[in-house]
Amino acid sequence: MSVHHYLMFFLPVFAAMIAAEFWIGRKRGLRLYTRDQSIASVVIAAGQRLISFVPLSLVGVIWFYAFDNRLFDLPTGAWWYIPLLFLGVEFFYYWFHRLSHEIRWLWATHSVHHSIEEMNFLAAYRFGWTGRISMGGLVYAPLCLIGFPPTHIVIMLAVNLMYQSWLHTNLIGKLGPLEGIVNTPSAHRVHHARNADYLDRNHGGVLMIFDRIFGTYVEERSDTPVEYGLIRPSGSANPVRIAFHEWGNMINDLKKHPVGAWPMLLFGPPGWAPNGEGETSAQRREKFRLAESRDNAAGIAADAGRVNAL
Ligand SMILES: [Zn+2]
Ligand SMILES: [Zn+2]
Repeated sequence: MSVHHYLMFFLPVFAAMIAAEFWIGRKRGLRLYTRDQSIASVVIAAGQRLISFVPLSLVGVIWFYAFDNRLFDLPTGAWWYIPLLFLGVEFFYYWFHRLSHEIRWLWATHSVHHSIEEMNFLAAYRFGWTGRISMGGLVYAPLCLIGFPPTHIVIMLAVNLMYQSWLHTNLIGKLGPLEGIVNTPSAHRVHHARNADYLDRNHGGVLMIFDRIFGTYVEERSDTPVEYGLIRPSGSANPVRIAFHEWGNMINDLKKHPVGAWPMLLFGPPGWAPNGEGETSAQRREKFRLAESRDNAAGIAADAGRVNAL
């Protein structure tokens, strides 16, 4: 069974969450759901569900091969087994998610989750259709090699994704001491932002501690309203176009550039192009930081000028 099979059990709770969010939004006069994007989200979720029934998964074969050659026979009844499984899955989820943003081949699938320009519970279930081509699930193979059974990993991943459902909302503000420790709606809003200083931050599933350790944690700022969506949006509400948008961009880029640039165009960071023509997230963040420090310096100089004039 795939992660998404287990998520089906959560569907009634999820439907109730969406109804409650929609109702509260209406009462407050907020337009949290637009019709076209909501229909697209439902069709994308349903399409992903259908695709997951196709019993073709090279990642699954590799997971089982790794587990058959495991290094340890872990005592699944030990008190520490489930906490260790949770931490192990969370750690590899962090890297799976981070690499899904930093390697274009994986981003082609994951970008579907980021394609929506509004934030609501329904957006949580916008999963890409092409995971079996991207094969990002390989990131978890070391867990199987350590000795965690693939079924246990899949169940823990499903729990992790269920947790993430409530993060996709604008209705919940900051949660005080929880910020920076666990993943919260505020932290995940930053993750979904295309603002330069928020790009590719907060990759954790349940926890933010690996983002803190590896330097990708950023807190939502009250002076920086989040702009949701992609840097290169599809501009479409057609679920098929959304699902294949980044693959299309990638093929167009391959056609435009010589073969020598293909490895980076396929597996380099999204936005990269030869001869410095592109702009990656890291470059956008750096540019933003430089502009901000220039503005600050100009502000300090202007203040000093005012003081001297007194
Ligand atoms: Zn993401
Ligand atoms: Zn999300």
